[in-house]
Amino acid sequence: MKAVTVQPMTKDSIRFEEVPEPDESTGSILVEAVAVGICGTDVEIASGAYGWAPEGRDRLILGHESLGRVVEPGPSKGLQAGDLIVGIVRRPDPVPCPNCAVGEWDMCRNGQYTERGIKQIDGFMSERWRIEPDYYTKLDPSLGILGVLLEPTTVVTKAWELVMAMRGRGFWVPRTALVTGAGPIGMLAALIGVDLGLEVHVLDRVTEGAKPDLVAALGATYHSGAIADLDLEPDVVIECTGVGSVIIGSMQKVGAGGVVCLTGVGGGGGGSGLSPADMGKTVVLQNNVVIGSVNANRRHFYRASRVLAAADRSWLEKLITRRVPPDRIADALQRGPDDIKVVLDFGAAR
Ligand SMILES: [Zn+2]
Repeated sequence: MKAVTVQPMTKDSIRFEEVPEPDESTGSILVEAVAVGICGTDVEIASGAYGWAPEGRDRLILGHESLGRVVEPGPSKGLQAGDLIVGIVRRPDPVPCPNCAVGEWDMCRNGQYTERGIKQIDGFMSERWRIEPDYYTKLDPSLGILGVLLEPTTVVTKAWELVMAMRGRGFWVPRTALVTGAGPIGMLAALIGVDLGLEVHVLDRVTEGAKPDLVAALGATYHSGAIADLDLEPDVVIECTGVGSVIIGSMQKVGAGGVVCLTGVGGGGGGSGLSPADMGKTVVLQNNVVIGSVNANRRHFYRASRVLAAADRSWLEKLITRRVPPDRIADALQRGPDDIKVVLDFGAAR
């Protein structure tokens, strides 16, 4: 079979090449790939900046936003050939830490977790892959290729869960949310915010293209420009850009008692003119919370599958802006100005 492979930490090493069939030790369920979503992490790995090959090997099969069709369910009860499933990305560390020990590997404390397509386990950009019975989520079959949006949905399902857990601090009922960044994560964060009954605002740089319409179609309000200029005092900010000035702006913009959840990963960047102590003062005097959130566990995969099953299909379809066959992985990794979610379409290759 063929797969997209990379040599982690090595530039220009990406190939669509012949690899062995997936080993039975990697799971009793055999799956044929339908599609794999591409995100910033894949671009980072392909650029040679991140990633780990499995032990004893130089190359890693890329891809963690999976969607596959079951070929052989094995002894797994509740699964049949033809079912659409998505593989869970992270596996608990072997120690295990207290969180991994109770199945909350997304909160791993010692960093020894592994991740499919990222850290020491092959990913899902192969014509066939295997999965263990405890590490998949079955999808509503009517989702079809839209099921490839599940993994990014799990990320924001967890983020919202963390935000809502902050209600226990006092009399705090969030009414208004600001989502920064209208990429796939921001769009899905906005979808969940609207589902939760909040008044949702989405901020992005672009003023045209599909994003403003997609936000409006949710019943949310689209904004462009600087965060500081927004005439809003949101109770919640879901930060999805990883851009320094937007992160600082989010912490300044959120209302008293509010929660900022950071999901974007950036780096470097310029100053905001505010010292760390000034930022700290803002957070202290307003009893604000700033939470970081990454990855997802089985509960988030299940909840996210419910979110997608209930979502408007034509809206979800517009999030997938390009479908590229796997032999054109290099094109798929190039982000176009109008791209929201680009997916490798393995079905098209058959
Ligand atoms: Zn752990």
